[in-house]
Amino acid sequence: MEGSVAKAPPASLEAICNKVASYYPEAKQDLIHKAYHFADEAHRGQVRSSGEPYMIHPTEVAQTLADLKLDIPSIVTGLLHDTVEDTHATLEQIEKEFGKDIAELVDGVTKLSKMTFKTTEEKQAENFRKMILAMAKDIRVILVKLSDRLNNMRTLEFLNPLKQKVIAQETLDIYAPIANRLGIRGIKMELEDLCLRYLHKEFYYKLAQRIAKTKKEREKYLEDLGAVLDEKLSEYDIQATVTGRAKHFYSIFKKMERRKVDFDQVHDTIAFRIVVDNITECYKALGVIHAGYKPVPGRFKDYIAMPKANAYQSLHTTVIGPNGERVEIQIRTQDMNIVAERGIAAHWKYKEGRFDTRARENVEWVNRLLEWHKDLSDPNEFLETVKIDLFAEDVFVFTPKGEVKQLSHGATPLDFAYAVHTGVGNKCVGAKVNDKIVPLKYRLKSGDSVEIITSPSQTPSKDWLKIVKSSRAKAKIRSYIKQQERDRALELGREILETTLKSFGLSLSKLEKSGEIEKACPRANARTQEELYVAVGYGRISTDLVIQELVPEEAREKKLEAAKAEDQSFLKRVFNAAKKRSEARNAITVEHLDDVLIRFGKCCNPLPGDGIIGFITRGRGVSVHTATCTKAIDNDQERRVDVQWNLTSNDAIKRHVKIRVLSLDEPGLLALMSQTITSCGINIASANIRTTKDKKAIALFDVEVSNISQLQKVTSALEGKKGVINVERIQS
Ligand code: MN
Repeated sequence: MEGSVAKAPPASLEAICNKVASYYPEAKQDLIHKAYHFADEAHRGQVRSSGEPYMIHPTEVAQTLADLKLDIPSIVTGLLHDTVEDTHATLEQIEKEFGKDIAELVDGVTKLSKMTFKTTEEKQAENFRKMILAMAKDIRVILVKLSDRLNNMRTLEFLNPLKQKVIAQETLDIYAPIANRLGIRGIKMELEDLCLRYLHKEFYYKLAQRIAKTKKEREKYLEDLGAVLDEKLSEYDIQATVTGRAKHFYSIFKKMERRKVDFDQVHDTIAFRIVVDNITECYKALGVIHAGYKPVPGRFKDYIAMPKANAYQSLHTTVIGPNGERVEIQIRTQDMNIVAERGIAAHWKYKEGRFDTRARENVEWVNRLLEWHKDLSDPNEFLETVKIDLFAEDVFVFTPKGEVKQLSHGATPLDFAYAVHTGVGNKCVGAKVNDKIVPLKYRLKSGDSVEIITSPSQTPSKDWLKIVKSSRAKAKIRSYIKQQERDRALELGREILETTLKSFGLSLSKLEKSGEIEKACPRANARTQEELYVAVGYGRISTDLVIQELVPEEAREKKLEAAKAEDQSFLKRVFNAAKKRSEARNAITVEHLDDVLIRFGKCCNPLPGDGIIGFITRGRGVSVHTATCTKAIDNDQERRVDVQWNLTSNDAIKRHVKIRVLSLDEPGLLALMSQTITSCGINIASANIRTTKDKKAIALFDVEVSNISQLQKVTSALEGKKGVINVERIQS
């Protein structure tokens, strides 16, 4: 393997078929023939930049796929991969001629080919790589794309220098790392060397020249040292194949960059590979080498015990050679060597002539990685590999500037807006996807270009919580709403205090100025004046308590006396109201608010189990109505809050409900009805009956029930009684 940019042998249909037959003798090759002729027909008349017939390109791509020993659909896709994009052939035609599986593969490759990635920073490059992996869904699409890119890079010399640089940079940033991640070292190294040739021309040709100049010398050296190693190994009965080669250019380039050394200071450009029968022999061979040559400290790596994230296994060491030079040595088994060449493809199992992407063994590939990398020192490296599978769920979309954002499955334009910036999310009024206006609940697909339309007057709404998918967007919307509600409570609280204080002849703004208002803070558990207003606004603290702190006792007494005179049962009422409030507070949860005073609307008297809505009232917490209550619908919708029954504490509360029973006017019926109600475990607070002219009776019961199901139970029990015509719950 001299250098690593050796020219590939000319590709042909025959060569492909022979290769496939060598690793898969029973394969039916008709489909390969058919695809070849289909593509040849479609591309007829087209030429490449080199002036050669276009068909050479797909043929070479298919040949590379056969080198990787891929399945027949992959090879057929290699032949067809440019037909949909570059010829009159359609996807429907391909599906009709070659089946759904192949049509999907061709479609996948076509979609990837339509994208260009301009990388500006490493993080973006990583996102692009993830995007490609996620979009491909089927790993074969990526293998075809890599082979396509390899062939394009091999023939890059025919393009203009600007295009050469753009394509080479994209390849280096995106495709070579993907090849590496999938463990396909052959393609990875060739891509890197080709990139070097176009991105660092001078370096590349200087190195190539130097290697060419010392070719004879080096070949002799490789041969001599190879023979010595061979001999030493057989002394210890180790069966081994020893091969020597120049290291790939890009790794030398990287090493020089890393160590900041000059060309002449790079000596270890030569590597030996020793392939043995089993793992024990690997370590035995290592012992023999280290006994014969002094190892360079810190250069031994055991990728057998600790495989690389892409499943690569081998022992690596560097020793001081016979002339004082550094020699890199890799030791591995035949199986490991196959994995090193073919990566992910080497792990795959065939099923009826094709890779079974769902086969247990193929799923196990990922599981095995999990097992191996339990104690890997760099967890990120491992994750990146496994994510190939996990990414399939994610959505990757473009910003108008061509950056990629990674969102979770089902994400909407709103999620995207919040991923860009909270300010963009809060002001979002609409979105354009691929230049078309879409609804906010549109589900984004990988590859979409998204542009957010904003308006300065927009604010987030509660309904958005039902649209967004990401927890980030949800949290941002919630915090906005919470802040807004707090602002409202603050305003309201201040207003209430102002009015109340006025009735005692005091001015709030004067108390604010003198700082006296602060006196009430400890009572409300508030640290600041603002917090005090918020507490009053939410109804967390009653104004009475605040007044106690701010209004002289004398003035309060006076007012209390007046109130007492006005209504003797004043205290009792206050006491009852307080008791009811604390019962209600336990029964209801208000969204985004804790510890709020709750009152039930007298108009509709909701029962646990009823659909309910809440309204923030002036200084009296939240009032709760049934969802259908007409009074509630008339209420100020601005003040509306979401409320829910707190079902665990339902039992603690008893609610008065009126029911009306229409029956025949028969003796003993009232007693029967009362008995029925009591037997349901329900207390009757009062009962009233009157008869009508047409010999019917209307009974009104005031009963105490805990929840709607208890009410339903008693209703149907009553309806089951002979003589009862109908039973109704009376609201308001
Ligand atoms: Mn192509």
